[in-house]
Amino acid sequence: MNFEVITKDTRTRARRGRLHLAHGAVETPVFMPVGTQATVKGMTPEQLKALSVEILLCNSYHLMLRPGHEAVGRLGGLHHFMGWDRPILTDSGGYQVFSLSALRNIGDDGVEFRCHLDGSTHFLSPEGAVDIQKALGSDIMMALDDCLGFPAEHAAAAASMKRSMNWADRCHAHFQKVADDSQALFGIVQGGVFADLRRQSAEHLVQRGFPGYAIGGLAVGEPNEVMYEVISAVEPFLPEDRPRYLMGVGTPADLVEGVALGVDMFDCVMPTRHARNGSLFTSGGHIVIKHARYKEDPGPIDSKCGCPVCQTYSRAYLRHLFMAGEILSSVLNTVHNLYFYLDTMRRIRQFIEFHRYDELLTEVRRRSSSAMEE
Ligand SMILES: [Zn+2]
Repeated sequence: MNFEVITKDTRTRARRGRLHLAHGAVETPVFMPVGTQATVKGMTPEQLKALSVEILLCNSYHLMLRPGHEAVGRLGGLHHFMGWDRPILTDSGGYQVFSLSALRNIGDDGVEFRCHLDGSTHFLSPEGAVDIQKALGSDIMMALDDCLGFPAEHAAAAASMKRSMNWADRCHAHFQKVADDSQALFGIVQGGVFADLRRQSAEHLVQRGFPGYAIGGLAVGEPNEVMYEVISAVEPFLPEDRPRYLMGVGTPADLVEGVALGVDMFDCVMPTRHARNGSLFTSGGHIVIKHARYKEDPGPIDSKCGCPVCQTYSRAYLRHLFMAGEILSSVLNTVHNLYFYLDTMRRIRQFIEFHRYDELLTEVRRRSSSAMEE
């Protein structure tokens, strides 16, 4: 893996870069659609490519339980299995263990948990998380971390961060033993909302030397300003020549704010999950397509949107599909929402290239404050 910073904005910390991975190059800042079960729900790989998706995120937790990472490995790895030949980032599985399964026991060696599908017992260790992601064959794998809830006291956050750093060390050591240079392992900065812990965590990981750094444990219920403060507290301790990945974030406005604070990579289920729920992003805020006011609305979702859905279909038709529970509703809504996110990232990259990122930031802040007044 190789990361080049192409240009930096002069008035914010925004950077325009390019990630070179085993399965291709990725222009940054980048948004990674989430393909939980080795599929972005409702989308074929061809449709994703038509939307210019360059990298996907897949969830190790789901894939290790079903169909099993070893099976995926025997079938040629995740890329071959799902018919996607561009880069893939996998998470460690830790986040879903903490959020989906009935936990049995977290110890220094890892976490024992019950599968949410059939109740079977499993154990996830730092070494195991690397082995699972090695079998999947993702371009970027993530270290196993301890996922802290919000709110958490300083002492609990400190203990959780220390456990995460210990696990990161073990992932790093195991990765050196078993992996080759077709994969890269990122470390994850933890420490809750506490600047001192975040700094300690970042310094620990940077000393170990990872090719990329994630900021984890955010977007778990804390106010947005707190999230931005944490990113600002971490960023100065991360090396400039390595990509920074803000995990699980967020709204289009969060992406613009995150980039201004020096973030290069994002993932979030929001555009795809909202699409299936009939919530659609537009340049004037989001709309809920089932609303009666769209019953005979002949206009597109967003007249400013260049996506194929907005070129062809009316709000009335999309509302009809949603109300009738048609599969095509999810497909078309997902195409539009992903296009909206990817187009936001394209604009972000352009504004950085023109050294005018503060203008985009001002525009987005003005829009979100006027949306709140409505
Ligand atoms: Zn559209």
